[in-house]
Parts: sequence; C-alpha cells; structure tokens
Amino acid sequence: MDEQMTLNSTTTGPRLPTVNPATGEAGQVYDGHTLDQALSIVADVARAQKDWRRTPVADRAVPMRRAAQILRTRAEDFIALMTAEMGKTLTQGRAEIEKCAVLCDYFADHAAEYLAPRPHSVHGEPDLKAYVTYNPLGVVLAVMPWNFPFWQAMRGVVPHLMAGNGVVLKHASNVPGCALAFETIFRDAGFPADVFRTLLIGSRDVKAVIEDSHIAGVTLTGSVGAGKSVAAVAGAVLKPCVLELGGSDAYLVLEDADIAHAARTCVMSRMTNTGQACDGAKRFIVVEAVRAEFEAAVVAEMQAYVMGDPKDAATKVGPMEGFKTRDEIADQVKRSLDAGARLLLGGVVPDRPGAWYPATILTDVRPGQAAYEEEIFGPVASIIPAVDEADAIRIANDSSFGLGGAVFTRDLARGERIAAEDLDSGSAFVNRNVRSNPAVPFGGIKDSGYGRELSDLGIHAFCNIKTVMVQPPQ
Ligand code: NAP
Repeated sequence: MDEQMTLNSTTTGPRLPTVNPATGEAGQVYDGHTLDQALSIVADVARAQKDWRRTPVADRAVPMRRAAQILRTRAEDFIALMTAEMGKTLTQGRAEIEKCAVLCDYFADHAAEYLAPRPHSVHGEPDLKAYVTYNPLGVVLAVMPWNFPFWQAMRGVVPHLMAGNGVVLKHASNVPGCALAFETIFRDAGFPADVFRTLLIGSRDVKAVIEDSHIAGVTLTGSVGAGKSVAAVAGAVLKPCVLELGGSDAYLVLEDADIAHAARTCVMSRMTNTGQACDGAKRFIVVEAVRAEFEAAVVAEMQAYVMGDPKDAATKVGPMEGFKTRDEIADQVKRSLDAGARLLLGGVVPDRPGAWYPATILTDVRPGQAAYEEEIFGPVASIIPAVDEADAIRIANDSSFGLGGAVFTRDLARGERIAAEDLDSGSAFVNRNVRSNPAVPFGGIKDSGYGRELSDLGIHAFCNIKTVMVQPPQ
C-alpha cells in the first residue's frame, strides 16, 4: 500500500492515511516510524526478550489469557476500527475477534505441552539420556495483511510470544489503527514492556529490518510478490521464514454430491470476508452430470449475498478494502468474459460512493482466462466444468497455488481418498469448507508459501530445536 503513503525519509516517518472503503471518505492519518526509529524499537524488543525467554511458560500464559479477555470486552471497538479502515462487516468482525480470543486461550493452555522437552532414544546407545528442547530464537518480524487485520496478525504473533520470542509487527499500511491496537492489547494484558511492539513502516523498510542483527526470523502473510521479496532478503542473511501467501482453492463437486449442501458451502466460503480470504473457495470444479443443477443452486445461494452497510448486523457483503482492489477484480472479471467465460450473476461495479463490487458468478471458466489462472480476491465465484472425477482432480491441481481444497461426495471413502492422496494443497476437506483451527497446522505449498502456522508446528517455527545428550562422567 506504499502508494497511499508519502515517502519515508531519514528524519520523518511515512504518513499513513486511512480511507473508509464503504464511503471513500478520508479517515485518521497516522505518523509512521523512520527506519532509525523502527530499528531502535527492534533493539528494545531484543533487550526485553532476554528476560521474557527466561519467564516460565506458565507465567507467559497469564497475560496471554488477559489478552483474550481484553479482546472479548473491547470487541466492539476493535470491530469499529476494522470497519473504518478496511470495511469489515459487523458479523465477520465479531467472529474474527472471538477467534483471536480463542487463539490466545488455546496457546496459553497448550504452549507448555508443545514446548516441553521431548525425550529421544539414541540409536546404538539405549542408556544415554537424550532429548530435544525448544528454545526461542529471539525477535520475530511479523509482516501481515489487511484482510483479517486481527486474526492474521494474532496468528503470526501469539504462538511466538508464548514460545518466548519477542515480536515486532509490521502490519499492512492501510490498517495502522489496528496495528497500534495490538500494542494496547498486549500492554494492557500485562506483557512486559517491549516484548511486543508495532512498527509503522512501509514495505520498503522491511528489508533493512530483516537484515538487522536483532531479527531472528520473519513470518509473512500476504501476496506471492511480497513473499518472494521477503524470502529473498531472509535467504540472503540465512534467517528462517514462514510464508502464508495467496490461494485459489478448488472445491470439487462430484456427481454423487449433495448439491444443495455443496452449493451452500461453496458460496459461504467464497463470500467469507466479502471474498477477501486467502482460503476462500475460489474455483468450483463441477462434473458435467450435475453442472446445471449446481449452477442453479449457486445462483440461488449467491442472490442472498447483498451489499449493505458494514456496520449493520444483517449485512453479508461489505465493500472491498480499497479502490485499487475493486478495480483489479473488475478487470479480472472483464478479462475472463472477454476470453469466453459466461456471467451468471453480478459483474457490474455499482454507481455509488465507496469501493463496492457485487456478488458475481462466472461459468464456463477455462484455461487462459484470468478466473482460471489468477487469484481473484473478491466476491467472484468461478465455475469450471469437468468431465469426471479424474478430470476434476487434474483441474484442481492445474494451479500455481496450493493452499486448501475440498471435495463434495456422499461416498466418504472416495472423498477421503481424493482429499488425502490426490489434492496438491496444504489442507483438504471433505464436504465442508477449509477453515483454520489453532490445534491443527495451517499453510500451503507451491505459490501459497511454505512453513506452517498454528499447532505444535506453528509454535516451533521460530524455536531452536536443540538436541541435548547427557553422559555421566566415566
Ligand atoms: P500484500 O500486498 O503482499 O501485503 C501484505 C503485507 O506485506 C503488508 O504488510 C505489506 O505492506 C507487505 N508487503 C507488501 N510488499 C512487500 C515487499 N515487497 N516486501 C516486504 N513487505 C511487503 O498483500 P495484500 O494484498 O495486503 O493481501 C492479500 C494477499 O494476501 C492475497 O494474495 C491473499 O491470498 C494473501 N493472504 C494469504 C493468507 C494465508 O494464510 N495464506 C492469509 C491472508 C491473506 P504494505 O501494506 O505497506 O504494502
């Protein structure tokens, strides 16, 4: 979002203006940090982390549980911030903040178990004491996107704080108020000063922060381009990184599926967060035998998704996060139609203030069309015809992305085989939509990134997994 801010200089930080995407009206402007200020904050966090890493896990859990309480008691304030900065609807906002609170409680409850030393048997020396410990690496940089301003950032922060790392958050430039709310939450929860800090910097300063000697690793959630750029910088200085990037999840609808359930689930997933979700259903791959029935059911479901005031609890479709995103979606739909796709619903930018785009359905989506090849980050469903199961699997995997996927069939053994063996994705679900849960790993393959968040794998991502062997003196 660098185009939104005025240029950084050595003496003045960037100015970060916010725009209400529902109205197009200018909001609050925030003063960002200079690079020097940002690096000084990183040094403060590195100092604070030295004590934090010695703090018992049970004691780290105390402020983490308080953070969960703060999220719940101040939820309406946090939702209002998200709505003002990126157009979050009230209902989605409530679900997002509650999910963050659950995450804090979950890692407060489970970190000790995940971080406990794990005994090992040494091959050929059965009497030797050997185990693995999980020591924090130091300070983690979390670079986060705007689409779930609380959930994505909490997911990239909470497990690493519980592991004893310090964390600095560089949030998306269009959600500076949300970024600063994190400092308030962790401070008010009673975390020691500087264990967590927010850096209000643009993406151009991320390279210098990663290269700073205090930074031990970086976790990024965002676009493929940002991921490649951060991975290159981190690779050059040999620092670990976790990348959660884009997705174009395929939902396979087979001839024996419950079509009403499949259509409802596909549309619900596609329309989550007004279509701005990495793990939303983006390609509906349907076998010819049930295509007409499925298309009719999808149109009926999608018609319930009407644009409205994001502050209204009844609203199911809010604005896009900004005008650039809205224009990109309109362009992708136009290019798809020009290349032979057929419009079943929506597809017209409404004539009203704000960054709006309606619920849209494309069918006859085929290779070479934008809707087939690219991630559409908005409320656009793409129906791709397939001859049969084998063809549907082939199309699902014919993508540069590999985040999630789902298969709809009444034959559970068939569904499990396809999910477990055939889909090239970081997660695969049978008869339900892809969703993250703190207890299970989340992440992707191919252009969707590498590494895993959440679960034991997520908390270990920035730990030194150290082998310890103990032999009594001879
Ligand atoms: P984005 O432009 O890549 O921004 C994400 C974050 O990266 C922002 O903080 C941004 O800062 C920063 N950034 C951008 N370019 C960078 C660069 N070259 N070097 C360092 N940092 C950089 O992504 P977005 O458009 O906000 O988010 C949408 C994308 O995120 C979609 O592709 C979506 O699928 C993906 N996403 C993935 C997941 C997942 O879990 N896999 C979850 C949510 C979203 P500025 O704002 O200052 O530019």
